[in-house]
Amino acid sequence: MTTLDVLVLGAGPAGLALAAACARAGLSVAVMAPEPEAAWVPNYGAWAAELPDDWCEWAEVAWPDVVVHLDDARRHVLPGPYVRVDGRRLQASLLTSVPDRRRGTAEDAPTARLVVDTTGAESPRVPRRGPANPGWQVAWGEVLEVEGAPPDALLMDWRGPAPPAGEPPSFLYALPLPDGRWFAEETVLVSRPGVAPEVLRARLGHRLDRMQVSVRARYEIERCRIPMGMPLPIGSVGAFGSAAGFIHPATGYSLATSLRLAEPAARAIARALESGGSGEATAALHAACWPEDRVRAWAFYRFGMEAFLRMDIASVREFFDTFFQHPPAVWGGWLAGELPPVGIASAMLAHFGRVGWRVRGELVATSLGPDGLRLAGNLLSPR
Ligand SMILES: Cc1cc2nc3c(=O)[nH]c(=O)nc-3n(C[C@H](O)[C@H](O)[C@H](O)COP(=O)(O)OP(=O)(O)OC[C@H]3O[C@@H](n4cnc5c(N)ncnc54)[C@H](O)[C@@H]3O)c2cc1C
Repeated sequence: MTTLDVLVLGAGPAGLALAAACARAGLSVAVMAPEPEAAWVPNYGAWAAELPDDWCEWAEVAWPDVVVHLDDARRHVLPGPYVRVDGRRLQASLLTSVPDRRRGTAEDAPTARLVVDTTGAESPRVPRRGPANPGWQVAWGEVLEVEGAPPDALLMDWRGPAPPAGEPPSFLYALPLPDGRWFAEETVLVSRPGVAPEVLRARLGHRLDRMQVSVRARYEIERCRIPMGMPLPIGSVGAFGSAAGFIHPATGYSLATSLRLAEPAARAIARALESGGSGEATAALHAACWPEDRVRAWAFYRFGMEAFLRMDIASVREFFDTFFQHPPAVWGGWLAGELPPVGIASAMLAHFGRVGWRVRGELVATSLGPDGLRLAGNLLSPR
């Protein structure tokens, strides 16, 4: 039996995107997962600018802009397009490039020249730099049929009363769907420990009551719990996608990054396998995903996450009001995870200069603690 060039463990978006790109790069590749064709569970959203050029082929809806409400007075309209991905179409399109699909788990994996773990953010097989202490993005989402007109596409609606003491603030993420229904999700951007989803279910109900939304029917429920700010992989095991630390510490997103990095990662693997073995291919994959500048950029994002964990609803409103007054290239680059470290550092300084004393205090307190030290260490020594 011939040995595969690449075996991809996991058949989520990262696994299929990498396997499809490896096949296009001329490698023999298979994916292995308990159910390689099982429908993906999350409802994925992403900024079109971060997606590969063929996004129109698998977008369910693209809104030209999305709205952020901070309170009854402060509102920002952000230029899109912002896309809700049709997961089934994207999955089907990736599956056509990956005919070799095997049922099984990492433990049954056949030998291959390179094995790549894409089994999710908490994969126990991927060694990381230091112990994990993630912040948790938690959300409770419902697809609703409602009376009356659907809302604008809301990226974040922070209006409403402050949460009870000790509970993290949450916002509404709500998208009007083409069939007249809406996807409404109450979300805690980041919390530690993660808030219970049932708390958000109750908050969503109260919010809809306040908005005087009369719900005729509920169709789908989405429970979301995403670990953010996981330590980056060391690079000694092939990994890609959320398993390789792609989840953005400021947004909880990773889909666009996985789709965008699949081609360069596959090309790097193909080049390395031409002349080397598994060690060289693992190193090439890691270098393609985590060049030093990106590691430094991630250190800033993780620092930002730690500062955000300290903020109450008043600080959160102030933070985002200032954030969305930066030029779109700055806030967009920040959210995409694509700003170079120098761009991030100058955006942070500009932000610090513009926010009020309350948020400044939280940023200073974070800098003076262990997270400031860790940031400095990662900037000086990204490897
Ligand atoms: C509810 C929810 C909503 C989200 N919404 C968004 C969003 O809107 N936009 C965005 O960018 N991100 C979003 N995320 C975050 C992130 O993008 C997703 O978690 C995304 O699915 C990660 O893709 P992945 O392919 O890396 O891993 P996963 O999608 O977790 O796929 C892992 C794969 O590995 C398989 N597997 C697991 N264990 C094994 C094993 N031992 N052996 C072999 N295979 C195994 C699984 O069956 C699965 O096929 C969301 C996450 C959640 C949970």
